[in-house]
Amino acid sequence: RVAYVNGRYVPHREARVHVEDRGYQFADAVYEVIGVVNGRFLDEEPHLDRLDRSLKELRIAWPIARGALKLVLRETVRRNRVRNGLVYFQVSRGVARRDFGFPKRVRPSLVVTARATPPVSADPGPGVAVITVPDIRWKRVDIKTTGLLGGALGKQKAREQGAYEAWQVDNDGLVTEGTSSNAWIVTSAGELVTRPIGHEILAGITRQTVKKVAADLQLAVVERPFSVAEALAAREAFMTSATSFVTPIVRIDGKPVGDGRPGDVARRLRAEYLRAVSVAEPF
Ligand code: PMP
Repeated sequence: RVAYVNGRYVPHREARVHVEDRGYQFADAVYEVIGVVNGRFLDEEPHLDRLDRSLKELRIAWPIARGALKLVLRETVRRNRVRNGLVYFQVSRGVARRDFGFPKRVRPSLVVTARATPPVSADPGPGVAVITVPDIRWKRVDIKTTGLLGGALGKQKAREQGAYEAWQVDNDGLVTEGTSSNAWIVTSAGELVTRPIGHEILAGITRQTVKKVAADLQLAVVERPFSVAEALAAREAFMTSATSFVTPIVRIDGKPVGDGRPGDVARRLRAEYLRAVSVAEPF
């Protein structure tokens, strides 16, 4: 495997940044993950737009021009022979003597890695279980920073309980989002419900694309917060992310959602999403 680090392609096991990198010390860094399916980048431009927004929020400069970054992403995927998988890229403010305030002259660090995953299927399989945990993250999770400890603790708890994802819940008992995914339900009235964009969730790119796919399928999408109780009473639940696409959720805190099997809406959205990005099996 090969990684890109600040202008060089290096063997993955030798890829390093300095101990005084601000990403390491302060999580003063932002990142993106783009899914690669059959050699295609999914929603590349929206991911780069979101990187631009994250960088602007933190006043970090682009490490290289957008067009150059696109070439580096392609080259990293090519050198790692990834046809199905993901490309990860991270920009930190750079290396400087440790100090909370921003350093004066600093060059941002850019790291790119790529990894293969098993090919995707339009068939969602049996669906996944989630648990619910208090949302203990900071108050600006709309900025895609590497400050991910809150989510990491939630995901670990999920794993220890045999679940795939943790839904984080705010102080009002309303679901914000998964640790690395956006959260959706389908009500008994057939409405798709997902939390509106704000500082409390990451504006998922897959969430945005799935909204369009739902509109194409003439499904009603309502953006409002929902509670855990409402999710348990829902007909269906599912999650969206660049690497899980649309994945049905069949259990919440050990209790079945609907009949405990992947629902029709989630199935259709997954198939249609993958078709929209031109990767589903022919059907
Ligand atoms: N929320 C969080 C906290 C995430 O980390 C992710 C995955 N990056 C998502 C939502 C889903 O976003 P996307 O669809 O852009 O992968």
